[in-house]
Amino acid sequence: MLLRDRIFKTLTRLVGRAIGDFNLIEDQDRILVALSGGKDSWSLLYALRHLQRKAPIKYEIAAITIHPGRDTFDLSALHERLILDGIKHEIVDGHIVDIVNENLTDGTNPCSFCSRLRRGMLYTFAAREGWNKIALGHHLDDFVETLMLNMFFNGSIKGMSPKLLADDCQNIVIRPLVYVREEITRTVAAGLKLPILGCSCAYQGMSGSRRQWVKQLLKSVEQEIPDVKSNLLASMGRVRDRHLFRKRSLGEETDTIRFVNDD
Ligand code: SF4
Repeated sequence: MLLRDRIFKTLTRLVGRAIGDFNLIEDQDRILVALSGGKDSWSLLYALRHLQRKAPIKYEIAAITIHPGRDTFDLSALHERLILDGIKHEIVDGHIVDIVNENLTDGTNPCSFCSRLRRGMLYTFAAREGWNKIALGHHLDDFVETLMLNMFFNGSIKGMSPKLLADDCQNIVIRPLVYVREEITRTVAAGLKLPILGCSCAYQGMSGSRRQWVKQLLKSVEQEIPDVKSNLLASMGRVRDRHLFRKRSLGEETDTIRFVNDD
C-alpha cells in the first residue's frame, strides 16, 4: 500500500473512532464542513466523505467557505477541485477583514476575533439553511495546545469539546479530528494534492505568539515524554472532580454541564 493511502486510512480510522466515541454523526444529519482551504479542513472533509460512503446511516455533507473579502483570497482552485470531486460548496461573502479592521480593540488578537466572526457567520448560515451540524477541523494538537494555553495564561482548565451546542443554541459543532495529529493532515493534504489556501490578509502570521510558545514547549517535552500529547488529550476526558475544586462565588457555574462552550 502506498504511504499516501496508508496515511489516509489512518486518518479515516481515527475520525471513525471519534465519531463512535462521541456520537458525532447520526442518521439524517446535515453537516456543513467549515473549509478554510487549509490542510486540516481539507483532510476533515475528505475523511467524512470517505466514511459517508461506507456508513450504515445516511447523512449529508457540504463544504462552506467564508470569504474574508479580499481579492487576494482566490477560491477558484478550491472550488474547481470540489466540483471535480462532486462535493457541494457554499461560499459566504463575509467581508471579515473590513470588520476586523474597523472593530479591533487594543490587546485583541485579530485572528481570534476573526475566528469568532467566522463562527458566527457559519452558525447563521447553517441555521437559516437547515444544516444541523457544523464540522470544524481542529485536531489533537489544537485540543492540547488550547488546554495548555488556558491553564498557563487564563488560570482555567478549559480545552475544546469534540461535540458541543453552539453559542446560538441551535447548531451542534463537532470536531471529528480530535484523535488526529497535525502531521497526518499535512501528509494527507499533500498526498491528495489538495489546493491549500492561506488567508492572504495583512494579519497573517499573527495567530498568537503564546500559541507558538506552547507549540515549542510541547515539542521539547515530547523528546522526553513521547506520549505527552496523547496523555494530555486523555486527561481532558478523565476529570476527577473530587481532586479539583470549584469556587462558589458570584455567578460561578457549579453544576456539571453536558456541553461546554469554548472559543
Ligand atoms: S490572517 Fe487572521 S485576521 Fe486575516 S483572514 Fe486570516 S484569520 Fe482572519
